[in-house]
Amino acid sequence: MSRATKIVATLGPASNDPAVLERLIVAGVDLVRLNFSHGSAQDHIDRAARVREIATRLGRPVALMADLQGPKIRVGKFAEGKVMLTPGASFVLDAARTAPGDLDGVGLDYKELPRDVRPGDVLLLNDGLIVLTVDRVQGEQVHTVVTVGGELSNNKGINKQGGGLTAPALTAKDMEDIKTAMSFQCDYLAVSFPKNATDMEMARQLANVAGEPWRHKPAMIAKIERSEAIPQLEAILKASDGIMVARGDLAVEVGNAAVPGLQKKMIRMAREMDRVVITATQMMESMIQNPVPTRAEVSDVANAVLDGTDAVMLSAETAAGKYPVETVQAMAAIAEEAERSEDLSLDARFSDRIYGRIDQAIAMGALFTAHHLGCKAILALTESGSTTLWMSRHNIHVPIYGLTSQPVAQGRMALFRNVRPVLIPRYTDRDQALAEAERLLVASGVLRPGDAYAITCGEPMGTPGGTNMLKVCRVA
Ligand code: PGA
Ligand code: MN
Repeated sequence: MSRATKIVATLGPASNDPAVLERLIVAGVDLVRLNFSHGSAQDHIDRAARVREIATRLGRPVALMADLQGPKIRVGKFAEGKVMLTPGASFVLDAARTAPGDLDGVGLDYKELPRDVRPGDVLLLNDGLIVLTVDRVQGEQVHTVVTVGGELSNNKGINKQGGGLTAPALTAKDMEDIKTAMSFQCDYLAVSFPKNATDMEMARQLANVAGEPWRHKPAMIAKIERSEAIPQLEAILKASDGIMVARGDLAVEVGNAAVPGLQKKMIRMAREMDRVVITATQMMESMIQNPVPTRAEVSDVANAVLDGTDAVMLSAETAAGKYPVETVQAMAAIAEEAERSEDLSLDARFSDRIYGRIDQAIAMGALFTAHHLGCKAILALTESGSTTLWMSRHNIHVPIYGLTSQPVAQGRMALFRNVRPVLIPRYTDRDQALAEAERLLVASGVLRPGDAYAITCGEPMGTPGGTNMLKVCRVA
């Protein structure tokens, strides 16, 4: 497979059938997202087991990402399931209301709303389709005027334009869900609505404590979907292993038009800081209903690839859509074509940077050498995967193979752009490991007689962060 960009697919009713799941994986899914906003703990445990079973059977590295619900701020339920709001009408969001909602108003899941808003604030409901302007706050009641009307149904989300809702990033449900996710040792844990680095540090701590019985520490992904997170991006990136450009909620908070620029900035910053980045939401939205994407969706996916994203993500397309497998196939084809259209040179961003660590300098040396010698592949014998992370932060049209004996490293590498994780036995003898690495890549058809390749490893073998050797070989 020549694709460098990874595909994240969300599971749901449309992909529960093991046969469909298998076809999704064959079509190119690299990371499965378990969305804790839907389904029971047992649903996710079952799905995780099914993914691992199929991935092992197919010999394909597929990683798991648990995505926490976070403080989704929602309206309550309506007596008739929904109401039709007309512009100019008044509508009351009432934290104290227990009776089902009607045309005059509705209860709130999020009881703090009256404290978080003031007259003139703009509230966006149902992903921004309905707009309410706050007129006044009276006790537990937020009196609003409908600015943009439409159908409002049970439990739709509320965002405040410009941000400023005080809900903490981790709810009691999230804490329970972290335990569930650790019980199947998810490779990545995504945190919804973090405002700052502290939210991510807290989530990491909770995850590490919950993972202790398995000695498991997941990689942490911050979903950037709040206005407040934007000025904190650098600190959030430092506190995380990666970010998600969560365009759904982000667009509602900062306005649609600001999102493309922010996407480019986030991808650039993540790569510069040696973090991973997933571009998410509505990438192939029309394929929920149709067997082919729109031109605009094709461009959107291709542009995210050209921006340098590690992964592109599917949500409802694979969780609840009519064409989950076709969507993954189409996305894979778009990504491959976009990659092929890129200019072939190695980006020079590392030549003006100082790398003080031996393993990092070796990683850059491997890129430089492989580019100049026209190597067919770069092989990295790695314990933690970090050598391949550093390499993957730069554009190079040479595939990187991360060979590891550690399932945790294999799972992390599944998300790194242009890195193909391979699980190998643990070797203590260097020459045996090098010979075995070559044999594997020849057997899988990546390398042929006469091909040059670069390989990195650490001596003594088996020390995380111990990469200190670069060798260039030619297959006999
Ligand atoms: P969600 O996050 O799908 O969990 O809401 C992604 C987004 O907001 O874009
Ligand atoms: Mn979201």
